[in-house]
Amino acid sequence: MDQIVLVTGGSRGIGAATSKYLAQRNYAVCVNYISNKADANRLVAQIKDDGGVAIAVQADVSMEDDVIRLFKSIDESLGQVTHLVNNAGILLPQMRVSEMTAERINTVLTTNVTSYFLCCREAIKRMKSGGSIVNVSSAASRLGSPSEYVDYASSKGAIDTLTIGLSLEVASQNIRVNCVRPGFIYTTMHADGGEPNRVDRMKTLIPLQRGGSPEEVAATIAFLLSKDASFITGTFIDIAGGK
Ligand code: NAP
Repeated sequence: MDQIVLVTGGSRGIGAATSKYLAQRNYAVCVNYISNKADANRLVAQIKDDGGVAIAVQADVSMEDDVIRLFKSIDESLGQVTHLVNNAGILLPQMRVSEMTAERINTVLTTNVTSYFLCCREAIKRMKSGGSIVNVSSAASRLGSPSEYVDYASSKGAIDTLTIGLSLEVASQNIRVNCVRPGFIYTTMHADGGEPNRVDRMKTLIPLQRGGSPEEVAATIAFLLSKDASFITGTFIDIAGGK
């Protein structure tokens, strides 16, 4: 297959929907996960049943050695990546900045930011005849998430800046780097953030009056990744119902 994509955090939520969507469009997909082996394997089996090509690889993408091992596994099983979706991310329980420990802040930053840098680095090395990267940021980068997750919002601000800088750095290598900024999307991430029903609580504040689905984010990621977006780089698409 000539399109080989790594989806970090592909076992659940937006990453799982994206993995499925891309597999249906002739990408060989590496579904990365950190601990949820069962969900990752179930998704890979489903893609294969539908005639697609996929593997699941465990790796903590905030760890350099794991990222190197992850890319080597893909090299050996599928070939060198041509596309990357940087998606793995975490949200920790709601807290004001005045309460945050260095340990918490560093956990959020290494998982949500260092991982994206490391995966971009390894992908770019392999994209010798061009490629495409989509970074999953968040509307939080624009809104700041006061009294809830300023650490998370700041990590996404860093991803916006990574997108701008890296897109310019690698444009002459025919590597495109774009970004999506989802708003409130129905996934279990909100439970990790301390409020499982957060999307429903917030939906009246969203101009479109509802939360988004992982599939709606997947479709936009797939567009930016694809040849249909061949003259688009350094661009952001907000998928946030108008907020
Ligand atoms: P989710 O349902 O909580 O899934 C998170 C995924 O990331 C899982 O596959 C998880 O693997 C993986 N993961 C977490 N830490 C990892 C690590 N260190 N290494 C490798 N994989 C790791 O999240 P989601 O809601 O789909 O969010 C996906 C992305 O969209 C994140 O970057 C998030 O910030 C962004 N986003 C989400 C929303 C929203 O409303 N949901 C809004 C804006 C932006 P396991 O299954 O093994 O745990």
